[in-house]
Order: sequence, then structure tokens, then C-alpha cells
Amino acid sequence: MKVTNKTRLNMVIGYPLEHSQSPVLHDAVYQLLGINAVLLAQPHLQLKSLIQTIKTLSVELTAVTSPYKEKVIKYLDQCSSEVSMLQAANTLIQRDGKLHGYNTDIDGIAFALRNIVVRNKRVVVIGAGGAARAMGYFLKKNKTKLLWMNRTKKKAIALAKEFGGDVICHDELNEIVIDIIINTTPIGMYPNVDVSPLPDYIFSAHQVVFDMVYNPMITQLLKQAKKHQAKIISGLDMFIAQGLKQIELLTGKRIPISPMIDKLRKVLIQNQRVTRI
Ligand code: NAP
Repeated sequence: MKVTNKTRLNMVIGYPLEHSQSPVLHDAVYQLLGINAVLLAQPHLQLKSLIQTIKTLSVELTAVTSPYKEKVIKYLDQCSSEVSMLQAANTLIQRDGKLHGYNTDIDGIAFALRNIVVRNKRVVVIGAGGAARAMGYFLKKNKTKLLWMNRTKKKAIALAKEFGGDVICHDELNEIVIDIIINTTPIGMYPNVDVSPLPDYIFSAHQVVFDMVYNPMITQLLKQAKKHQAKIISGLDMFIAQGLKQIELLTGKRIPISPMIDKLRKVLIQNQRVTRI
């Protein structure tokens, strides 16, 4: 799509943004759907200035990433019920000068787990940051038996209080039957691709293992799980689905994910920042 004086300006904000795949993903979707828009990466340490820029330049869609998902809340004029519950937004849509906040990470999670029965399953969530909170929201809604595990135990305790479930530590893992394992930490992310949050003996064939890390697509955790014939799910599908939902919010038109997912996976994997290992 040629840039013209009708091109809509969108942004991704966060710091740092070197590894953000949002510009690549959005560009690919804009091309596929014929949307005359660009999404520019704006790494900046002053959120207040970024918000001012978004307003001055009438930026329509802003993708929000670490460390601003919680910090943007005070600048919102309106927000979805998910944002109000989680106090975290990954998407801003500007309408008539007003900023509306959404959390499409939840849509990404729902898509990634669309073929998995989570109800009444025993799920271990590793990590207790922003992504874990979105996960907790989804899993609580879907009535799973939650177990939280995190390096800083008090954060796991806080999530167990908020979303239900118990806190466990590494030593207790081999005493429980686990149905679903979800990694919400950056462990295994490029360039530290050889590490995993779990030892090999945890995995078995009946399990589902979902890693939110999407670079590389198949992490060390997923390799271990696959070796034991568990079903594996990469964070790449979540990433694509959360981005498509952002574009749905921008255009107001429903975007079916399934016809596009293979093409978008290819684009992101081919991009050199997503390393195939
Ligand atoms: P965050 O708020 O900074 O939380 C990170 C969590 O990981 C914390 O609980 C932290 O433990 C834990 N952690 C970090 N490094 C660790 C290490 N070396 N060993 C053990 N625990 C460690 O980050 P976030 O926003 O939740 O994001 C987490 C991951 O999810 C990132 O890799 C991000 O790329 C990914 N993510 C993917 C998608 C997607 O679309 N696929 C969307 C959102 C996020 P402490 O509490 O002890 O610090």
C-alpha cells in the first residue's frame, strides 16, 4: 500500500521496542486487507509526551507494550470492562479526541487456547506479571483449577487471592497431576533460547503446554513437552490474534483469523527477529 495524504497513522509505544513485532504484523495485515495505514514504533521514556503526541497527531490506534500497559490507564477517557478489571491496556483507540482502552491480550489467549478444554483442568501458570494477570482473568472465567508458581512468591500469592487457586513451588511439581502448563515469563525468549522454566520430568503425553514467548516460535519448554508427546501451543498465535483484534477495533469490522493465520505466521517467522531454531 502506497503512503498517501490519506494514510492513517498508528503507533506502538513501549521501551525498549527493538524486538517488537507489532509493526511487521500490522503491516502484513494492512497489506492483506487493503487498509491504508502505517504503524510506527515509538520507543520513548516519557509516557506523558507520547500521549500528547498521540493526541496532536490524531493517532488512531496505539499498541501498548511493556512497561506502559498499566501506566496508560490514567490517560484513558473510557475503557472496556476487562481493562477496568485488570487495570492494564494493550490497545488505545482514539475517537473524537478521546482515548478508549482495550486489552486484546485476552482475545489472544482465547484464540491460542480455542481448541483446548480448560474447564475443571489443573493448570499451572508460571510467572506473575502482566501477562499472567490476563491469563488469570481468562482461566478464572473458564473455571480451571489454578496453581500459581513464580520466582517472587508474594506476587503469586497476590494473583491466587485475585483469581483463585493455590501457590506451588518447583519441589511440589512432581507430587501433582498437571493437565495444562502455561509459561508467562520471558524464560526461553531470544537470545536465551536454551533455557526452560521447568525440568524434563514434569511432562507427560496427556498434557497441553502453552508458552507465551513467541520468539522463537518453538521454545526450549515446548521442545521438552513435544519430546514427551504433550500438545504444544506457541505464543505466536496469541500474538497474531491480539494484533488482529486491535485492527478490528480500529476498523470496526470483524476479521476472521483462521484464513490469515498461516500467512501471518510465515511473515513473522521469516522476519529475522523471530529466530527459527
Ligand atoms: P512482566 O510483567 O515483566 O512479568 C514477568 C514475569 O516473569 C514475572 O513474574 C517475573 O518474576 C518472571 N520472570 C522474569 N524473568 C524471570 C527469570 N529469569 N526467572 C524466573 N522468572 C522470571 O512481563 P509480562 O508483560 O507479563 O510478559 C511476560 C512474557 O509474556 C514476555 O516474554 C512477553 O513477551 C510475553 N507476552 C507474550 C504475548 C503474546 O502475544 N504472545 C503477550 C504478552 C506478553 P518476578 O515476579 O519474580 O519478577
